[in-house]
Amino acid sequence: MMPRAMPMAFHETDTVVLGLGAMGSAALYHLALRGVPALGIEQFRLGHDRGSTHGPSRVFRPFYANPLYVQMARAAQAQWQELERRTQTSLLRLCGQLVIAQPDNAKFQESLKALQESREDHDVLTRDQVVQQFPMMQLPAGSVACRVPRAGFLEPTYALSILVAEARKAGADAWEEQTVTGLNPRDGRLEITTPDHRILCRRLICTGGSWTASLLPDLQLALKVTRQQKFHFRSSDVADLHPDQVPVYTDYDLNYYGFPVWRGILNVADDNWGDFTDPNEVDRSPDAETRARLQDWVEALFPNRGWQHVHTETCLYTNTPDDDFIIDRHPEVPNVIIGGGLSGHGFKFTPLLGELLVQLALGETPSVDISALGLLPGRNLILKN
Ligand SMILES: Cc1cc2nc3c(=O)[nH]c(=O)nc-3n(C[C@H](O)[C@H](O)[C@H](O)COP(=O)(O)OP(=O)(O)OC[C@H]3O[C@@H](n4cnc5c(N)ncnc54)[C@H](O)[C@@H]3O)c2cc1C
Repeated sequence: MMPRAMPMAFHETDTVVLGLGAMGSAALYHLALRGVPALGIEQFRLGHDRGSTHGPSRVFRPFYANPLYVQMARAAQAQWQELERRTQTSLLRLCGQLVIAQPDNAKFQESLKALQESREDHDVLTRDQVVQQFPMMQLPAGSVACRVPRAGFLEPTYALSILVAEARKAGADAWEEQTVTGLNPRDGRLEITTPDHRILCRRLICTGGSWTASLLPDLQLALKVTRQQKFHFRSSDVADLHPDQVPVYTDYDLNYYGFPVWRGILNVADDNWGDFTDPNEVDRSPDAETRARLQDWVEALFPNRGWQHVHTETCLYTNTPDDDFIIDRHPEVPNVIIGGGLSGHGFKFTPLLGELLVQLALGETPSVDISALGLLPGRNLILKN
């Protein structure tokens, strides 16, 4: 006799969070703190390395050409620090940022303007002044730099583990290795299905990262997923390259960035889009050409250290056409809130984005005016006619 299929377990809750990466973990945390019955569902193990939120480092910075992100960085800093107080942890390491560019770099100049308008503390330094302040660094000829104190880095894998642990402590459920396979409106509520479970909920926060377009196929979202790699280097000569000596550094002409030596590793990356990929079929082999370019850059910035490449991290960007995030209600199913399209620069805002999604879900006015991050017609985000 054939064994009988196990019946699907049935559950009811107030809010389901689909995807427990950066935004989903933060949304679950905020729901739980407010006492809203909530269930987070993740298709892989929590803290997995197949999406966009893993590894040792993410830049935190207010250096943006769009003042909205300067404002959001401030609000996010307050949230990270509140989370640190609550959990007695160190998450945000404010070692500053040095943005290097040729003086005529338009994006650099626009960002300086945005910092000035937002009254964000910063200094513009000549190349000689940089070498005086950071004698271990060599800058390209003709370049200038902007030093921003309210900047530094975060450790994404660790930060997510803290958010989920706090959410659970405050009463939320967080399931791992359960793939959401169905999402259907049902009498004003939503029915979410996984292979083993059927869940009825009042609202859904959809934070599926690189899977967002396939989770909401009716919208035909114009999201492009790219494969990005970070390269880890070691040297025996790093005593002067730690976060209390060296800031996070970004080259705005090349679009490369890197971190001080942290836990024995210096890691750097190319912020330009990598190859387009299907998130389910990512080539994780190290790209030798990109590795060589970045190694040359590290050797030029911190010369004569004998850098050895020791590891490559592969990660995904989910890019919108304008690089701005999507935080909005589903245009046809208003109890579905979409958080996505973080376009390779969203991690720094994680706890703030979680709060904004929860505010939208609960029908509150968001604490930051995020109307520009909505599914606006001018953004060409929705491809369907
Ligand atoms: C190499 C690299 C470097 C970066 N550097 C920076 C930086 O320096 N500073 C910065 O601010 N940002 C940076 N970012 C961007 C930042 O990390 C991302 O914007 C952010 O982590 C994305 O979070 P997310 O929640 O949208 O996606 P994810 O964290 O990928 O979460 C989505 C989750 O949804 C789950 N999911 C999808 N479909 C389903 C389903 N059907 N059922 C259940 N679960 C599902 C996925 O498994 C995944 O866990 C970087 C990104 C990369 C790749």
